[in-house]
Amino acid sequence: MYDIVIIGAGITGSSIARELSKYHVKIAVIDKASELPAGASRANSSMIHGGFDDKPGTVKAKFCVPGNKLWHKLKDILDVHLDECGSYVCAFNDDETKHLEELLQQGKANGSAGVEIISGDALREKEPNVSPEIVAALWSPEAGIINNFEAVNAMIESARINGADLFLETVATGLLIDDAGNVRGVSTNKGDFTAKIVINAGGVHSGEIASWAGDNSFKIIPTKGEYFLLDRATKGFIHSFLFSCPSKAGKGITVLQTAEGNLMSGPTATEQKDPEDRSTTPEGLAEVLKGAKRLVPNFPVNMNITTFAGVRANTESGDFEISALKSPRGFVNVAGIKSPGFTSAPAIAEYTADLLKEEFSDIVTFSPNEKFIPERCNIPRFLYMDMAGRKALAEKDSSYAQIVCRCETVTEGQVLEAIHRGARTVSAVKMMTRAGTGRCQGGFCCPRVAEILSRELGIPLDEITRHGGESKLLIGKTKEFLLKGAVSE
Ligand SMILES: Cc1cc2nc3c(=O)[nH]c(=O)nc-3n(C[C@H](O)[C@H](O)[C@H](O)COP(=O)(O)OP(=O)(O)OC[C@H]3O[C@@H](n4cnc5c(N)ncnc54)[C@H](O)[C@@H]3O)c2cc1C
Repeated sequence: MYDIVIIGAGITGSSIARELSKYHVKIAVIDKASELPAGASRANSSMIHGGFDDKPGTVKAKFCVPGNKLWHKLKDILDVHLDECGSYVCAFNDDETKHLEELLQQGKANGSAGVEIISGDALREKEPNVSPEIVAALWSPEAGIINNFEAVNAMIESARINGADLFLETVATGLLIDDAGNVRGVSTNKGDFTAKIVINAGGVHSGEIASWAGDNSFKIIPTKGEYFLLDRATKGFIHSFLFSCPSKAGKGITVLQTAEGNLMSGPTATEQKDPEDRSTTPEGLAEVLKGAKRLVPNFPVNMNITTFAGVRANTESGDFEISALKSPRGFVNVAGIKSPGFTSAPAIAEYTADLLKEEFSDIVTFSPNEKFIPERCNIPRFLYMDMAGRKALAEKDSSYAQIVCRCETVTEGQVLEAIHRGARTVSAVKMMTRAGTGRCQGGFCCPRVAEILSRELGIPLDEITRHGGESKLLIGKTKEFLLKGAVSE
């Protein structure tokens, strides 16, 4: 029995859970995934936007700049990597330069600090690899690039430190409503969760979840974005985030250096029916490459280590859908959170907590949690330590002297720490430690991580999965196959 159930532990649900854990309320966060992040929060451009792109008066514009400001504070409190590198929107001609003027005015209206238009030459002084054809750029100094894997795990971990419960592999299947028309909880594949308030933070599934409450006022149009991710050896090729001039189709193809130093380019914007289709396509990647080379002509695509795609929860209105329904009472949509949703999440969380206090104080008591602990510490990042720090850590705990992931210099100690924090799959360890995100994409460390998971959790090796469900890494032992005659000698 809970006061509040949050469906979805992406950056929206996790941030709301943390904000609500500042009160004495019983919170359950449920997510169908086996590890976090899973939805759009896992596969996106990881930009903490400056706030010039959204039309003043929209819900997105209301939350983007405040969200940006909160991330600049939260990065230290939650020990999350945020590269405060700024961003540029690049113009190639007079028409695009005029558009930069509009974005500048929009940014000023939205409260985006320090935005200004600079010349193409001034941009090239900072970013020598950009196209010689760029004539002007909109500089946004407050923009940054976040490690999105860390950010989601930090938010949910902080919520859990402060009393929220997280249930993974738990699929919400329907809404429980009593005869008086009040929310009574959520049904799931693991049984019913009773609660007076249910928050729909289901991302690309949020339209379907809203329809359980009889709310068909908005529809989600899943919109895929494909990317190239390059080796970290490209670090410094560019230093920040380069946008093309936005069009009706969206913000266009960008080139950026991730918070960890990988060069990256994308995303496309392709509408599709299937909310779960995260495949990349030759056409999509060709579009990305064309856009990347327009901004950065010698974009070193030969250094590519993987491609991936994320799916946006676009709405027909193009805006976020945040409201408490009148009926059934207790149902709250924080839905259709597309870009700049990652940026906006902490501000959306503050707003949602206020909304709940205003609407539902008669059914749930929101007394402050005086013992709220704002901070959380990340797993020590061996890669970024100097030799003295590494030596000290390894002397204290010899598991930090064992390198598991060579590409990202992740130690056994970090993998053990991730398991102690709840990692149960190879992919969860990847999200928490970066083991498997490097050049060999887990070719070297995946078997080792699986062995450690098996040993620590007391689970047979052939039951360890990549990301839950049927995604087993091993299907049996070669010798057993030979004995069964399944494979000929
Ligand atoms: C290609 C792309 C680029 C983007 N770039 C940026 C950017 O640079 N900056 C920015 O600010 N924003 C960006 N965004 C937007 C940002 O990623 C999203 O706004 C944000 O991640 C949405 O978070 P969320 O928690 O609402 O949704 P999600 O992260 O999708 O989380 C929803 C969660 O709900 C769970 N769920 C769904 N249905 C159920 C169910 N029935 N039962 C249980 N669990 C369920 C899912 O497993 C998932 O974990 C981008 C998005 C995409 C796709």
